[in-house]
Amino acid sequence: MSPALTIRPYSEGALAQAAAKLRAGELVAFPTETVYGLGADATSDDAVAGIFAAKQRPSFNPLISHFPDRDAAARHAVFDDRADKLANVFWPGALTLVLPKRADSPISHLTTAGLPSIAVRVPAHDMARALLRAADRPIAAPSANRSGRISPTTAAHVAASLGDAIGMILDGGPCGVGLESTVVDLTTDRVILLRPGGITADQIAAVLGCDVILAQSDDDAPKSPGMLTSHYAPGLPVRLNATTPQKNEILLAFGQDCVTKGFDDVLWLSKTGDDREAAANLFALLHQADQTRFAAIAIAPIPDKGLGVAINDRLKRASAPRSATAES
Ligand code: AMP
Ligand code: MG
Repeated sequence: MSPALTIRPYSEGALAQAAAKLRAGELVAFPTETVYGLGADATSDDAVAGIFAAKQRPSFNPLISHFPDRDAAARHAVFDDRADKLANVFWPGALTLVLPKRADSPISHLTTAGLPSIAVRVPAHDMARALLRAADRPIAAPSANRSGRISPTTAAHVAASLGDAIGMILDGGPCGVGLESTVVDLTTDRVILLRPGGITADQIAAVLGCDVILAQSDDDAPKSPGMLTSHYAPGLPVRLNATTPQKNEILLAFGQDCVTKGFDDVLWLSKTGDDREAAANLFALLHQADQTRFAAIAIAPIPDKGLGVAINDRLKRASAPRSATAES
């Protein structure tokens, strides 16, 4: 299924090949100053679904989009004064800003896990920035390891973990930091640390001259969104494993044997029962189905294998009672 793995030491030629692969929707692992990232075109539903397939992630948490500079990031995210101050001081560097997503941004709904916010970062690694410039599009890049494994700081680590699932590693030698980026949420008037990292809360507070709230220690602070059970539930109720229609329902259908008769409307996650196609379509179709003329969104059964695990995890959260905030 996957192409043979190419590991190329950094050169002009390797950079051009890696950029071409990213533009073609393929996965490329590349070095940053924190860890090796598993990159894909953040505007392509299918390419981003490939990240989740390769990592075998059991859930669709939102991914960080990487840019060569602040202005490229600002084409997709709305920067306020606080964001500009932090970008001025810490970029390029190990700081990720969660900001409101621009309405006209072509970022995939899968990259942002359907959220109205986007996480953006400019890495402090010359090869990474050269690649981002050459790819000329936002690159979604979580750490280049199988889910649950240690983050990779060398090309050999990436090859050992993902070698059979990706086509290319751009080898830039060992990463310097080895720690993942600090994630700060600036989507409200508070400053919330979603993930601690190399840049500390005190450093951020000093630049902004205000308190930084730690998401884990403050019950009022929104948790990192992937952790909330009812995170990004559609407005309509969601009914799982629907095999017979109920009144005024729209169906998200899956697979050749799916029964669609009797539903008010039908949107196909995948006609052939392809888990990757369904993952790529999931958030966009949930948005599309969420219309007040229906009473509920019914979801056809989706087998719990491959990307079906992450799809079912997300759908379970979408169907959870709206007051639920339990962690998983
Ligand atoms: P990773 O890609 O594995 O390095 O992790 C990305 C981190 O950024 C996770 O902690 C996410 O919860 C967080 N993140 C990414 N996008 C968003 C977003 N749109 N809103 C809030 N947090 C985000
Ligand atoms: Mg990771």
